[in-house]
Amino acid sequence: MKKWGANQLKFGFYSLGQVILDLILPPKCLNCDCRVDQAHNICPDCWKKLHFISDPKCRCCGYPFEPDLSLNYHALGESLCGQCQVLSRSFERAASALRYDDESRKMIIGFKHNDRLEYLDYFVKLLRQAGADIFPGVDYIVPVPLHKKRLLHRRYNQSALLSRALSKKLDVDHAPEFLVRTKNTPPQEGNLNKRAVNVRGAFKVGPHYQKLARGKKILLIDDVYTTGATVENCAKAIKKAGAAEVYVLTVFRVISPQNPN
Ligand SMILES: [Zn+2]
Ligand SMILES: [Zn+2]
Repeated sequence: MKKWGANQLKFGFYSLGQVILDLILPPKCLNCDCRVDQAHNICPDCWKKLHFISDPKCRCCGYPFEPDLSLNYHALGESLCGQCQVLSRSFERAASALRYDDESRKMIIGFKHNDRLEYLDYFVKLLRQAGADIFPGVDYIVPVPLHKKRLLHRRYNQSALLSRALSKKLDVDHAPEFLVRTKNTPPQEGNLNKRAVNVRGAFKVGPHYQKLARGKKILLIDDVYTTGATVENCAKAIKKAGAAEVYVLTVFRVISPQNPN
C-alpha cells in the first residue's frame, strides 16, 4: 500500500476540504452575492460597472484625463495635470486601480469599516495590475499609518493589510513601522483645504528606519487617493529621511469635479 507523506496528506485533505467547502458554501461575487467560479472575485456583471483607471493620465499623479482634454494636453506637449504643473510633489509617481464612485464605494466601505476582509485578495490583485511597472527595484513596501488611538478604535489598518499581502506576493520587505502618524487627524471628510492642513507634518519616519531609508526606493500603499494630501505628506517625510524615490499605489482614486486636480 502506498504510504502518504505529511505534505501529501495535508494537500489531500486541503483539496478535499476545499471541494466540500465549495459545495457547502459556493464562492459568491464580493459585490452582489451571485455565484462565481473562484472565491474572492467579482462577477462579470459587477466588473462591467467598475471604472478602471487607464491611459491617458497625468504622468505624475495618475489623474485620468478625459480623452478630449488629453488631446489638448498632448498638443501642448504636456502630460502633467493642472495640479502637478503648479505643485511640487514629493513622490515620483502615483497609480490607482479604480475610480472611487457609486459602484466601487460599497467595496471600500465594507473593507474599511465593516470587517469585510474577504475583499483583500481581490484588492491585492488590482494593486498588482495597476502598479506592475513600479515594482522593479522596490526596497520597502510601506502602508500609510493610522494614529495609534485610531488603530485601537478600528482594530486594523486597512492600508497595512493591503501592503502586507502585496509584500508577500511580490516578495519585497514589508515595513509597517516605517512611518509613524504623529497627529490624530479627523476622518477624511469635509473641506478639502482643511484636510490638507490637517495632515501637514502628521507623519515621520520611525526610528528604526531613519538610517535604512537612505537611497532606497519606497512604495507607499493606501486604500484611497483622495486629494493627494496624505500621500504627499508621507512622501515628504520619507524623502526627508534620505530615500531616493517614493511611489504611491492605491486601490481607489477619487475623481471629484470640486477637486479637478
Ligand atoms: Zn456581482
Ligand atoms: Zn497630476
